[in-house]
Amino acid sequence: MTDILELMQSRDPGEREFHQAVEEVVDSIKPVLDRNPEYRRAAVLERIVEPERIILFRAPWTDDQGQVHVNRGYRVEMNSAIGPYKGGLRFHPSVNLSILKFLAFEQVFKNALTTLPMGGGKGGSDFDPKGKSDNEVMRFCQSFMMELFRYIGPNTDVPAGDIGVGAREIGFLFGMYKKIRNEFTGVLTGKSLNWGGSLIRPEATGYGNVYFASEMLATREKTLENKICLVSGSGNVAQFTTEKILQLGGKVVTLSDSSGYIYDEEGVDTEKLEFVKRLKNVRRGRIKEYVEKYPDTHYADVDPSLDYNPLWDRKADCAFPCATQNEINEKDAMHLMKNEVNLVSEGANMPSTHQAVDIFLDHKILYGPGKAANAGGVAVSGLEMAQNSMRLNWPREEVDNRLKTIMKQIHQTCCDVAVDFGEPGNYVVGANIAGFVKVVDAMLDQGVV
Ligand code: NDP
Repeated sequence: MTDILELMQSRDPGEREFHQAVEEVVDSIKPVLDRNPEYRRAAVLERIVEPERIILFRAPWTDDQGQVHVNRGYRVEMNSAIGPYKGGLRFHPSVNLSILKFLAFEQVFKNALTTLPMGGGKGGSDFDPKGKSDNEVMRFCQSFMMELFRYIGPNTDVPAGDIGVGAREIGFLFGMYKKIRNEFTGVLTGKSLNWGGSLIRPEATGYGNVYFASEMLATREKTLENKICLVSGSGNVAQFTTEKILQLGGKVVTLSDSSGYIYDEEGVDTEKLEFVKRLKNVRRGRIKEYVEKYPDTHYADVDPSLDYNPLWDRKADCAFPCATQNEINEKDAMHLMKNEVNLVSEGANMPSTHQAVDIFLDHKILYGPGKAANAGGVAVSGLEMAQNSMRLNWPREEVDNRLKTIMKQIHQTCCDVAVDFGEPGNYVVGANIAGFVKVVDAMLDQGVV
């Protein structure tokens, strides 16, 4: 077991996030390897951590002043054992191969859990859409697609959005793909409604996260009613996590962005949430403006001298990290436990460090890892692909009901597998083993490829 981690360290030293994601899975699946000696003979572990293909390319673009810039484009096609590669594109200055490999790796397991036929991939660029004009973003997206189009297609690889890639970027990317290929196909998900998008896709990750949290609470005969919730981030996942918590009677007291966080003791109600949506999705402003609009609330800038995030030290019952990887460290986790938070449901991918996860498991709180709790987004992407293939659109209620059913199934699968492996209530073990077995069994069926 340590062999595979040592091999990865020596082959690709410095891929910190990727090694972290693999280590977490490897820790859980040892009993499966012990039960199935054929897995070791077939080197499934060695194969599953090696991307089937990585595409790395130059994406030059011209700003509004005529200056040329060069960014890097990536697509990590991780595993296609159970379907075409599927996973988002991230545009953020921090993007590098380690982050995309970790995201693609997580995506393989997550997609398997949805029960839909999707393999795993992830891509993006170190391009930062923040502060760029719509025209600059369009020129960058066009340049990015001018290269990526060679490698994707509705039966090959179907990208979607992620951090920094929303409806605007998906539109520009799709427009360029259609022009080059001269075909109108479901090559991307997260499209706008009037040209192939699915109802509920924008809401799906956040709503799914809260459906998953409700299922976890139900195992202890609890609901979200009157629960005080900490939410981080203020983008797509945070907005719709907040919306669903409000619908289910909970109270959200925090939101954040990469500059700082707000604390609203009265709670972010529907009207305030609409303000945040306009602020972030239309005006592309900063969360700090929330306290200018609602002066009885509190804002704090990110303080780089602190080794913890004060957002996670606010009194609450539940926590929903919805911003980015490793946003909850050991100290944050201890603060959550001190304040008696008894549920953490991850809207973001790998938001908790390894040490933080160990603390949640030791305290036996309800802990929903991202690959299960945030699988609703890709699940509805899968439903968007199905609707595109049939050239029809399902009504809102139908998609929402399917999403609810899928999240319920994922929850049940995690519970059943955890019990089977002697770890009842451990959703990390449940999600990792269920995803792993489904993918490696398909790999074995398909031979050494
Ligand atoms: P958005 O770009 O819509 O929002 C991201 C939010 O997180 C913003 O508020 C952003 O702040 C904040 N953020 C980003 N980087 C950092 C950082 N380094 N420190 C603090 N805050 C940060 O992205 P999404 O909401 O789509 O994605 C959020 C998370 O959810 C990611 O981990 C993503 O991988 C995951 N996810 C998303 C899915 C989807 O369907 N969109 C599906 C499954 C998982 P700022 O505005 O300052 O950048």
